[in-house]
Amino acid sequence: TKTHAAEKTYEIGTDVTFPPFEYANDNNKYVGIDMDLIRSIAKDQHFNVDIKPLGFNAAIQAVQAGQADGVLAGMSVTPERKGTFDFSNPYYNSGVVMGVAQNNNSTKNLNDLRGKTVAVKTGTTGAQYAQSIQKKYGFKISTFDDSNNVYEDVMTGNSIACFDDQPVLKYGINQGTQLKIVTKPAAGTPIGFGVKKGQNQELLKKFNTGLANLKKNGQYKKILDKYLNAKK
Ligand code: GLN
Repeated sequence: TKTHAAEKTYEIGTDVTFPPFEYANDNNKYVGIDMDLIRSIAKDQHFNVDIKPLGFNAAIQAVQAGQADGVLAGMSVTPERKGTFDFSNPYYNSGVVMGVAQNNNSTKNLNDLRGKTVAVKTGTTGAQYAQSIQKKYGFKISTFDDSNNVYEDVMTGNSIACFDDQPVLKYGINQGTQLKIVTKPAAGTPIGFGVKKGQNQELLKKFNTGLANLKKNGQYKKILDKYLNAKK
C-alpha cells in the first residue's frame, strides 16, 4: 500500500447536532451523512480532518475568521452566502418546513401563526425564511443556537412552531421527536461544503474530486442509504 507521508489536516466546523447530517452517537463520536462523507473523501484524497462541532453559526464565523478551513453542516448554498463562501458541488438538497407539536391540531399553516412565537436556529435558512414572512403572518421569533433547543421550545409550548430543514425534521420525527411537519418545503436550496471565499481552493478541489469518486464507486449512495433508511 502507498503511504502519504505529509497528509494535511483540515479543521472542519460542523453543527452540534443536526441528524442525519451530523450528531454524536452513543460513543460520543460524530457520525452522520456529512461525517461519513468527509471521512471517506479524506481517505480518497489523502488528507486528515479535525472535526469541530462548534454549532452552525459559530462554524460559519470560525471559517470567516480563518479559524477553521471549511463548514460541513448541511449548509445551504444561498446567493448571499456565495458573497463570502465558495461552495463545493452540491451533495444533497433541502428546503424549509414548519414543525409543530404532535398533539397540536390547530396550527396547520402559516395563517395560524398570527400573534404566536416561532423558534428558529441562528443564522440558518430557516431563520431567514421566518424573517422574510414575519410581517405578513404577524408572529414573533425566538432564536436558539442548536436544533435540540428549537424543538424543545416547541414541545414545551413556548413556541407554537419551528422552521427547520425538511430532511432533518423528518429524520428526527422518525427517530421519535414529538413534532410533526405541517407545510410543504419552501426556499429549497442545494446543500454543499463551504470554504472562505478565495481561500482553501485546494481543499475544495479535493472535496469535489473525492465526492465524484464516491458517487462513481457507490460509497455515496451507501452513506445516504445508511442514514436515510435508518430504523428507529
Ligand atoms: N440548511 C440550513 C442552512 O444552511 C441549516 C443548516 C444547519 O442548521 N446546520 O442554513
